[in-house]
Amino acid sequence: MILVTGGAGFIGSNFILDWIGQSDEPVVNLDFLTYAGHLDNLSQIPKDAKYTFVHGNIGDKALVEALLNKHQPRAVINFAAETHVDRSIDSPEHFIQTNVVGTYQLLDEVRRYWLGLDADNKKAFRFLQISTDEVYGSLPIDGKSFTETTAYAPNNPYAASKAASDHLARSYCHTYGLPVITTHCSNNYGPHQYSEKLIPHSISCALHGEPITVFGNGLQVRDWLHVKDHCAALMKVLSNGRVGEAYNIGAVNEKTNLSVVNMVCNILDELRPRANGLSYKTQVMHIEDRPGHDTRYAINPSKIQIELGWKAQQDFNLGMRVTVDWYLSQCEIAR
Ligand code: NAD
Repeated sequence: MILVTGGAGFIGSNFILDWIGQSDEPVVNLDFLTYAGHLDNLSQIPKDAKYTFVHGNIGDKALVEALLNKHQPRAVINFAAETHVDRSIDSPEHFIQTNVVGTYQLLDEVRRYWLGLDADNKKAFRFLQISTDEVYGSLPIDGKSFTETTAYAPNNPYAASKAASDHLARSYCHTYGLPVITTHCSNNYGPHQYSEKLIPHSISCALHGEPITVFGNGLQVRDWLHVKDHCAALMKVLSNGRVGEAYNIGAVNEKTNLSVVNMVCNILDELRPRANGLSYKTQVMHIEDRPGHDTRYAINPSKIQIELGWKAQQDFNLGMRVTVDWYLSQCEIAR
């Protein structure tokens, strides 16, 4: 079986749903259910699925030890993290506790468990560290996209805490031989994302008649990938990725934040026109820029494409339309 951490959040829940749809192999989900974790995200799991939820912290060593011994996973996939950059700027403490200390504690328990496996299971074991492109820092507008050898240069407490956890994971591979693989993905979009992130936040503000806030001029560039494409990439990495390696995951789909917000408005104008006939774009409001806001992230996915045969499948225009429609359906359910 596999142990997923943070599986009640955005990407982890999509991963578990896809896993259950494709495999009979049992999955255990360890999630602390912070403000970002919601069991509703997993409500589609069939009753007879081989799925177990455990409420707990990756930093709870006794719990993790007991879980590993009980379930004997062949892999741990570590999604659990504090993830919102603005929160990390307001209050970095939780980010250090979960992303740095928590990942260390998880790694250490996994190392103990892994040491006790027989030779074949030891060799087959994997620890997937789910990281982000933000650890590479900011690119100039005309700079080359991030490769796996780009130096780490995190610019905000979230990115720094993720960089620290990646370094710990790498060191557990190098020093103890724990079979770690790290992935760096670009911005994800799709269903189940917490309402504070750019796309669901813009939809929510639009529908509530509130200002759709955009940091600064909105010309910061992000590289957008559908969450289902991310999950498919992780499955390839889990089955065929090389131990000790990092893989960048992205769709080569760079957009400014402002153009993403405008796209959300255009789709809403079509799917849920405002009563007064005006476009939702009239609600867009530029606010003071985020301190230390990175100009551009862009992923070069050549390595995973060539080595593992993965390529993003989802068309951005269609994927965004379906995503906006999904958030609209959630508003209907909430009414
Ligand atoms: P999220 O904030 O939606 O979910 C995080 C989940 O982790 C939540 O369910 C939360 O309850 C859980 N969690 C938090 N602290 C925990 C702890 N101490 N113990 C156990 N569970 C805990 O995050 P997400 O967007 O799904 O991101 C998942 C991972 O992917 C993160 O590691 C993030 O850095 C990485 N990532 C995200 C993106 C993106 O665009 N969202 C892009 C690249 C990488």
